[in-house]
Amino acid sequence: MHPLAHLEETDIVLDALPSEVAASIEVRDKYMNGLSMGGGMGLEFVVSDVQRWLPGQVVRVAFLDGDDDLHRAIMEATQEISDACNLKLDFGETDCGSFRRWTEQDNSYAAEIRVSFDKGGYFSLVGTDSIDGTLGSPNGDVGGRPYQASLNLGGYAVKRPSTWRGTTRHEFLHALGFHHAHQNMRGPCQASFRWDDDDGYQPTKNDRGGFIADAAGRRPGIYTYLAGYPNFWDRMKVDHNLKTEEDPHLVAGPFDPQSVMLYRFPPDFYKSVPSPCAPQGDGQELSDGDKRGLQLLYPQTATEVAAVVSNQQEIFSAVAGFVASEPEAAGLETAIRPMGQIGGVADVLRRKLDALK
Ligand SMILES: [Zn+2]
Repeated sequence: MHPLAHLEETDIVLDALPSEVAASIEVRDKYMNGLSMGGGMGLEFVVSDVQRWLPGQVVRVAFLDGDDDLHRAIMEATQEISDACNLKLDFGETDCGSFRRWTEQDNSYAAEIRVSFDKGGYFSLVGTDSIDGTLGSPNGDVGGRPYQASLNLGGYAVKRPSTWRGTTRHEFLHALGFHHAHQNMRGPCQASFRWDDDDGYQPTKNDRGGFIADAAGRRPGIYTYLAGYPNFWDRMKVDHNLKTEEDPHLVAGPFDPQSVMLYRFPPDFYKSVPSPCAPQGDGQELSDGDKRGLQLLYPQTATEVAAVVSNQQEIFSAVAGFVASEPEAAGLETAIRPMGQIGGVADVLRRKLDALK
């Protein structure tokens, strides 16, 4: 039985990467940010810049499971993303209407974006993290290696919720380098969320294990709500996924309440209604802000494209130079992990630049 088989329309499923994957990304990001602070190596913006694909690039998509109809539906839902920017998603459609597949035995990448439907929840690695072979555990089924899923739409092969188009676009925007709108540093969300239970709340669950208001009408707060079905998040995971991102390297545009990157929270998640953080619209179609973001990441004009490419080449030289200049660190136990991880970044950049040739 798929973990989300009992999902109902009113259930709110938030997306989050498996914790061991999130942990390896945090190690990488901290290390990269540390590098850019020391030594003036010109590594500012590295993490978010590394995560973007190149303008004009063909990014392949492959499926682990699910049938042709589902694959076609996913392809059609993502059409408005590639229509809005200079990047092509290639699903490997054949003349007889089947689509590219990947397997858990692959040693080389069948596709940059590897979709599965068989894991719990919805999530995607951000941009080129999908091909960073240092992310996730080598034995896990999610990560940046050829045999690991990079994007999951849990349960879609069994049943798609009515909001599946919005969720599909949300996850594919992650896969193209987008972060969450509610974590936008300029946004109003953190201060307007109802983090804690109403005073005196008596923990009360529905028959599927989701926290609901108690007999006296006192409501669970966000921490409690997300600890139950269908998310089962601990406090740390809630903080990691919902608190404002402090990373100064993330590009943050103006807060966009219509973005598909903004979670559709129920009214109880907010301190006041209407909340300044509440989404507008139904979150199924890309907003104008989403389209502008796509245009910024994957611009059309030759001048803009050349600027992005030369910036990527510069980062590659800096990172590759750093890896080469510190060979002695490779032998030290404590240094292996971060060295391996920046090596992964160099590898990603090299492969991306190779794709241009
Ligand atoms: Zn998300």
